Amino acid sequence: MMGSSKGRRHHMAISSWSFQNVRNKMTIRLQVALVTAVTCIAAVGIAAVGAAMVAKSGAQANANQQLQTLARNMADRLDQHMFERYREIQNIASLGPLQAVWSKDAAATRGILEQLQMSLPEYAWLGFATPDGIVHAATKGMLEEVSVAQRPWFVDGLKQPTVKDVHDAKLLDKLLRTSPDEAPFRFVDVAMPVFDSNQELAGVLGAHMSWTWADDVRQTVLTSQNEESAADLWIAAKDGSLLIGPADRKVDPSLLAQAAKSNDVLFMDTSGAAPMLAAAVATRGQGDYPGLGWNVIARMPVSVIYAPANQLVLQILLLGGVVAAVASAVAWTLAGSVTNPLRALADSLDLVGRQTDVTSVERQHGSLDILKLSAAVRSLLRRVGTAESVQMTNAATIDTLQREVADQKKEVEQKIMRYGADLHALQLLADTDGLTGLLNRRAFLPFAEDAWSYYNRYDRPFSILMFDIDHFKRINDTYGHAAGDDVIRKMGEIISAGIRTTDKVARFGGEEFVVLLRETDETSASMMANRLREQIARTVVIVAEHRISFTTSVGCALGSSAARDLEDVIHLADTALYAAKSGGRNRVVMDGVPTEGRRAAA
Ligand code: GH3
Ligand code: MG
Ligand code: MG
Repeated sequence: MMGSSKGRRHHMAISSWSFQNVRNKMTIRLQVALVTAVTCIAAVGIAAVGAAMVAKSGAQANANQQLQTLARNMADRLDQHMFERYREIQNIASLGPLQAVWSKDAAATRGILEQLQMSLPEYAWLGFATPDGIVHAATKGMLEEVSVAQRPWFVDGLKQPTVKDVHDAKLLDKLLRTSPDEAPFRFVDVAMPVFDSNQELAGVLGAHMSWTWADDVRQTVLTSQNEESAADLWIAAKDGSLLIGPADRKVDPSLLAQAAKSNDVLFMDTSGAAPMLAAAVATRGQGDYPGLGWNVIARMPVSVIYAPANQLVLQILLLGGVVAAVASAVAWTLAGSVTNPLRALADSLDLVGRQTDVTSVERQHGSLDILKLSAAVRSLLRRVGTAESVQMTNAATIDTLQREVADQKKEVEQKIMRYGADLHALQLLADTDGLTGLLNRRAFLPFAEDAWSYYNRYDRPFSILMFDIDHFKRINDTYGHAAGDDVIRKMGEIISAGIRTTDKVARFGGEEFVVLLRETDETSASMMANRLREQIARTVVIVAEHRISFTTSVGCALGSSAARDLEDVIHLADTALYAAKSGGRNRVVMDGVPTEGRRAAA
């Protein structure tokens, strides 16, 4: 549980880190201006999207209406026109006075037909063919005496009133075309059976109408349109092929079937370069004219339909951009006036932090919050100042105390050093004989014990020599105590100078000296003792006008298996000394055995 809550906290810390980091790099002023700009832009964006949706759906409905009206207008005109031609041909075919003329008088028939053609130039050819299919009379005499028995208009026209859908000119093409560059003629045919006064079938009256009239109708309808609408009109046959419109295009026949069922249908044509909204409207025929199943297709580019909506969105965006810029500028200015006192406060606080002589900040104005903040900061700084002065006093006290402690420490150290020196002096004093400066007995013994240990453990030989001045009492008595001291001192000097550095000499008290000889066997010890004894016997101590000579007796003992400890060895040397005294003095006795020596002359 602990782990998971820790993990979550860690995760949150990371996710808020980068945002925090970005914000920490921006002033409040910049943040306020940015937030304002972003808010404005977002609001404008939403407004623009909303406006675009409303305007586009409005524009679409408008365009639907417009296209349907346009197509319907064209379809009705086509129907109307076809109906008129149908009725016209029908009327002429059934006109009573003409019944006697048709198959009889070709010239009269031709005259009537040419009159009709003049009244309506779109009649490219009008002709009457007898039931055998031979053209009896025709405008400008074209195709007269030619058989049209195979032409569909004639075949159907024999039976009933007939209209034939748009088709290319066949027999007439050669006759009508003035140059091979001219577009091929296309006709819509109307054909009616003609009866004579006996109600016998006299032949077929046929009219070829130039299809160009449909294009004229289209132009007329389109000119009534606003040019900016960029609307276009096509005519599609029942099978979807285009009678007017690009020859390579076709319209989905199922769409046309739908349009025929419900009069019109709207669809989006995306097959071209630019997407188009299209309305297909079916022609319905009129009166006796049954209609040919044509469909008028009105088209308009989607870009044109939505142009006003896009324009509106652009305007909203432009206006919104301006509003966002102005609002951000205002926010920038306002935020500046809000944050300037904060900055000033921060700057003077920074000074308080850096310079010791600055202890407070200026009162800041601008808002109640700033006023409160600056007052709070000032009172805080007053408290800090108080605390600081207290701390400084404390620091001074501590400093003084520390210095005192240091002084005392130094004093103690000096005392310790002094005591050390004193102690050393005392030690020296304790170890040293005052008169001769030699070791005393207490200081001597550890050396002798050491030699004893070496003898015991490693069998290293050592000797102890005991010296005692002969008849010293007499010297005191004769020359005085001070002269005795001189003699004692001289005796010490001689022994000290005569032994090796590894040996030790000590004054055991009175005129008695002891010597420790290390690494020394019996012979060497004896030789050393005698050499010293002789040297002492030759020595003369001069005190005032007196020349004082003296001798010494020496007892010598070796570290030996007979001794249990050092005291035993010393005791043996003592015994030897006693023996030397009783043996006549001025001699050396080795462990009870006198070596060489003779009586002192004095
Ligand atoms: P012996 O040959 O038997 O040793 O005879 P001695 O006179 O030396 O006899 P003893 O050792 O008994 O006498 C020592 C005298 O040395 C006794 C004492 O008054 C004297 N004496 C002891 N210490 C000192 C000293 O420090 N200075 C002086 N001047 N005399 C001392
Ligand atoms: Mg003595
Ligand atoms: Mg003596």
